[in-house]
Amino acid sequence: MSKSILIIGGGIIGLSIAYYATEKGHHVTVVERGGPTHDMASLGNAGMIVPSHITPLAAPGMVQTGLRMMWNSESPFYIKPRLDAGLIDWGLKFMRACTPEHVAKSSPVFRDLSLASRQCYENWADEFGNVFGLVRKGLLELSKTPESLHEAAHTAEQARQLGIPAEVLTAEQVAQIEPNVRWDVLGGIYYPRDCHLSPMMLMSALHRHLEARGAQFLWNTEVVGWEEGKRQEPRAKNQESRTKSQEYGDAKQAGLSTQDSVLIFPKTAAGEVLRADEVVIAGGAVSPHVARGLKLNLPMQGGKGYSLTLRQPKKLPVLCALFAEARVAMTPMQGTLRLGGTMEIAGLDPKINPARIRGILKSVPKYMPEFTLDDFKDVQPWAGFRPCSPDGLPYIGRSRNYANLSVATGHAMLGISLGPITGKLMAQILSEEQPEIDLTMLNPDRYL
Ligand SMILES: Cc1cc2nc3c(=O)[nH]c(=O)nc-3n(C[C@H](O)[C@H](O)[C@H](O)COP(=O)(O)OP(=O)(O)OC[C@H]3O[C@@H](n4cnc5c(N)ncnc54)[C@H](O)[C@@H]3O)c2cc1C
Repeated sequence: MSKSILIIGGGIIGLSIAYYATEKGHHVTVVERGGPTHDMASLGNAGMIVPSHITPLAAPGMVQTGLRMMWNSESPFYIKPRLDAGLIDWGLKFMRACTPEHVAKSSPVFRDLSLASRQCYENWADEFGNVFGLVRKGLLELSKTPESLHEAAHTAEQARQLGIPAEVLTAEQVAQIEPNVRWDVLGGIYYPRDCHLSPMMLMSALHRHLEARGAQFLWNTEVVGWEEGKRQEPRAKNQESRTKSQEYGDAKQAGLSTQDSVLIFPKTAAGEVLRADEVVIAGGAVSPHVARGLKLNLPMQGGKGYSLTLRQPKKLPVLCALFAEARVAMTPMQGTLRLGGTMEIAGLDPKINPARIRGILKSVPKYMPEFTLDDFKDVQPWAGFRPCSPDGLPYIGRSRNYANLSVATGHAMLGISLGPITGKLMAQILSEEQPEIDLTMLNPDRYL
């Protein structure tokens, strides 16, 4: 049955849902507070698709690492201490999730989502003629110190045990695999299944495709509130049957009892109420603000990160890479070179912090000695917010308190990697199908 679907948020998550929902014959409207060329996390990121990332942000040792790094103004991780109930609540939940058991349960979920998402990207590359520059050649994680290489090799072993190929390399092997730049590293890990792409070109390809397929875009339309409605449904034994209007007809004919289900419709800043069969919140780091006033609890912090893009780099690698100690990502993007890094949990202020930018830039000549700080002197830094849940897992699925409301957000540093599979799974849920991957751990009501 074809439905009308409203998606709040035009980032990679919103557009991926729109893509798969349109494919299933639904009528999709994307509601976006920005204009057609507005900025968002989905544009300036490092563009990596990383099945190698199987560990959630909430992992053993993260609290100690965070505390250690907090005192260095150029460090890649920072939590601004402040008396904020949301931050305190998030921090306590984060600490509780930093256990080996949580990692062991989450890693296979990340693996399944990432590999399925990678396949979606392959399909999109075929369908769109790879206009978004998908490069399927792998990722290098590079270390300068023995401790870092040892830790990276341990993670690589865990990845291998979950079926993700990973090779430990010496400095010579790194040079052989990526000869386009001179490296100053001790060694690294090569993850051949990882990929990279140009996020900007991906977003514009999706946008063009969706418009051509009849999806509507309500630009400059901010959702600021909600209005409740009611719908009569058969008294449900489970969530799935509750939303099937066909079963409602069957139930009435069979004389079964019915009940009122609560529906929810977004209200825009202009005072308009947008009605639809289904509503999906995909507002990235500000999703909790979008959900304000609803019976939903989406603990979230915006993890601010920065990127700098060299338009004409003096050297251009083929592979993307992570500088392990510096926690900096480096991605060749269609002739340009992008550096990205830093995770600042400091509210949603987009202001650029020059010390963190210095921290990212200083790492570059340490790993790639052919580059100097001077190479970046005219580059404008970009900032964006990763939507970070306290347990490091996204929120994907229906909300139990409303018959027509779903959530798809909280992908932290993996929103590009997991965008397409999130869209595919949401489209299955909205079409009353069994999602192809078990989403129990990603239940958006898990903190309710
Ligand atoms: C420096 C950096 C590097 C990164 N590198 C990678 C990477 O290599 N690989 C990877 O997988 N991920 C990476 N990420 C993470 C990735 O960018 C995010 O996870 C992803 O972009 C989140 O997408 P989204 O659609 O949830 O949010 P967004 O892209 O933020 O989109 C949300 C949209 O919702 C809209 N919106 C919000 N509120 C409202 C409202 N009330 N009404 C209407 N519209 C609203 C916003 O305007 C916005 O356009 C990186 C992030 C950063 C910061």
